[in-house]
Amino acid sequence: MKRSIAAWLERRRATSNAPAVAALEGELCALPEPLPWPPPGPVLVFAPHPDDEAIGCGGLLLRLVQAGVAVRVVLVTDGSGAGGLPAGAAQVREREFHSSLARLGVTDHVMLGFPDGELVASAPLFEAIDAQVRAFTPRWVVGPSAADAHRDHRCTAQALRRAALAHDCVQMSLEYETWGALPATHVLDITDQLATKLAALAEHATVLVQMDYARATAGLAQYRGLLLREKRAQAAGEAFVCTGRDTGFAWPTGWGRPIEPGK
Ligand SMILES: [Zn+2]
Repeated sequence: MKRSIAAWLERRRATSNAPAVAALEGELCALPEPLPWPPPGPVLVFAPHPDDEAIGCGGLLLRLVQAGVAVRVVLVTDGSGAGGLPAGAAQVREREFHSSLARLGVTDHVMLGFPDGELVASAPLFEAIDAQVRAFTPRWVVGPSAADAHRDHRCTAQALRRAALAHDCVQMSLEYETWGALPATHVLDITDQLATKLAALAEHATVLVQMDYARATAGLAQYRGLLLREKRAQAAGEAFVCTGRDTGFAWPTGWGRPIEPGK
């Protein structure tokens, strides 16, 4: 894909408006880089709900385990479904969460138990997430995106960014994709991990009867696989928005900037 886009850009350069092509290439059409691997130390992953860990970064989790990297998963809410699931769903989904992590080989996890669907950007949430970062001293933190169309995800992302800024141990923040495709900066090859990722997701039977996350997750992984530098059959990827301490864990500027009139 990279090669064909480069060839297309070259043709465009020769035949059309050069500034517009430069803007397209440099800012609006940046392709994700390979995720630096392995991480320089422990990785702390936050999942607002049971299933986010498998959908958003199941492949990453398995690769961390396979690489012998210390990894802990923090489940932020109780997964009770905010009224959209039967009574007792929280207990069932807790078991499903454990089964999902077992598929991925993750043994270290923490449950914060906030009510599902009721997260707010409040001191208790900030303090709970800050305490997790302080205790685990990760080099990378991984969580949902502040751009997600779900308040629990946005509040978790906001609290995690604040905690990352407060603890110098954190070098990089990775936002994963669940409630929407993101303007990814990095992609990780999970071709060899996709089957296990989907098996982990399949453990979340309670939500899978409501939404076909399995098909959507497989499709997204295949789409992200197109962005890998090494071309492989049946390629699958997970994409992330990675930000660093040097920019205050803020998204790069310039993305989506409209092309100026006349260019
Ligand atoms: Zn979620």
